[in-house]
Amino acid sequence: MKTAQDWMRNRIVPEQIDKYLVNGEDFISEYAIEKKLTDSAAPEPARVREIIAKAEAIESLTIDDTAVLLNVIDPELVAEMEQAAARIKKKVYDNRIVTFAPLYLSNMCVNNCLYCGLRCGNTTMERGRLGTERLRREVEVLAGRIGHKRLIVVYGEHPESDVDYMVDTIKTIYDVQVPTRNKGYGQIRRVNVNAAPLAIEDLKRLHEVGIGTYQVFQETYHRSTYARVHPSGTLKGNFRWRLYCMHRALEAGIDDVGIGSLFGLYDWKFEVMGLVSHALELERATGIGPHTVSFPRLEPADMAPFTQSPEHKVHDREFRRAITVIRLAIPYTGMILTAREDAQTRRELLPLGVTQTDASTKIGIGGYAENGDEQQSNKQQFLLGDTRNLDEVIRELASMGYITSFCTAGYRCGRTGECIMELLRTGQEGKFCKLNAVITFREWLDDFASDETKKVGEAVIEHEIEEVRVKMPKVFDSFMEQYERTKAGERDLYF
Ligand code: SAM
Ligand code: SF4
Repeated sequence: MKTAQDWMRNRIVPEQIDKYLVNGEDFISEYAIEKKLTDSAAPEPARVREIIAKAEAIESLTIDDTAVLLNVIDPELVAEMEQAAARIKKKVYDNRIVTFAPLYLSNMCVNNCLYCGLRCGNTTMERGRLGTERLRREVEVLAGRIGHKRLIVVYGEHPESDVDYMVDTIKTIYDVQVPTRNKGYGQIRRVNVNAAPLAIEDLKRLHEVGIGTYQVFQETYHRSTYARVHPSGTLKGNFRWRLYCMHRALEAGIDDVGIGSLFGLYDWKFEVMGLVSHALELERATGIGPHTVSFPRLEPADMAPFTQSPEHKVHDREFRRAITVIRLAIPYTGMILTAREDAQTRRELLPLGVTQTDASTKIGIGGYAENGDEQQSNKQQFLLGDTRNLDEVIRELASMGYITSFCTAGYRCGRTGECIMELLRTGQEGKFCKLNAVITFREWLDDFASDETKKVGEAVIEHEIEEVRVKMPKVFDSFMEQYERTKAGERDLYF
């Protein structure tokens, strides 16, 4: 029988790193990043305003521009940056928010990341992976009781959760259909994946099974910190294998890729520079920038020494700035704020340009169907800050004027990758999305919402319908026809 050591031996394919290097170098120059940050200390207001205007024209910022924005300290300019971030979000994504849930499939892991509760060195963790029946039950709760349409499935890196297991579990998830009240049915329509970096051949298999976004966080773009928190000899210890996994994913045909950095491992300004460098490099090399950017902040985890008193802990004010600058620097990208943050923090950060958020979140294996509401540190990767359910989060979003979109049409009609980049930059993606947001929100309100949420949600729908009538008169009649059919019980209609 193959041991985990045997399995690990051939995972990294050096040629699938080397082919993307330019003159043998990767795209993260620590010297250049540090120098730009130092050189742009105390920037001129006129220069800052010029950069803000460029971002508002939905142009990607350079890393020089980014360094300038990261160094702004004048409160008036900071406020202008935040207002611009909100306007960019509105221009590209309107008032839509997408919701999703993470689904942990396996918590076995051969790596030993010092910040993570799933590290192999944590001997107190209860380990396992979901078999088909347990998985079906998880999806029945997520899609049939809560009403999620999008999942991010999460896997530890382990021979028991290799690409065969990923493909099988993703097929099972798409296969589950659950009847709901009011003649509807619940089903997961988009499965995004958060897993270890894979080789091109394996990524092709994920593409074939119809995944949405392939998401891998670099954790830190700072090499010596990377080496410190990812012990050498582990698969994750290879910085460049991870750094180029999105290049491989795009080459394998996956259109939507998600990058991220774990804030709290190293200096937050450096990490924002790393994320922007990554986005620019993907645009340069492939023509497709990141579909999403994630900015998880380090949370306490069992037996994870690095989370106890992190030297580079990111305080709320700094985190706020990091999010604002990411929004300005990569104006077309989706931005994900997770339930790692508490409810109040999420409320405050959302208006800076966030486009996606999770709700009803459970991160233990079998967490949705089997475990209670208590968080159990020996069963989950880290502790969550916000455990509110989807109904409550949607009600709050609606009361803040946001419409929750369950639309997954873009990806099913080929509005992905390069094509969606263009639509997003020119503000055209919004046209389809607005219509689909209303239709899918109607569907969700009828199938899953509490009476209280339905009331608040319907006020948002009324407002949206009026906007469609005024701003898109040509499609109004066909839109209303689909809306009425949805109200009468038809499902999964979209433009
Ligand atoms: N094993 C895969 C990997 O490492 O890429 C799956 C990802 S892991 C389950 C998902 C993400 O959680 C990691 O990429 C990391 O950024 C984040 N994470 C790990 N430990 C964390 C902690 N203590 N607090 C917050 N986020 C954490
Ligand atoms: Fe494993 Fe991922 Fe956790 Fe590292 S972050 S220990 S690779 S699950």
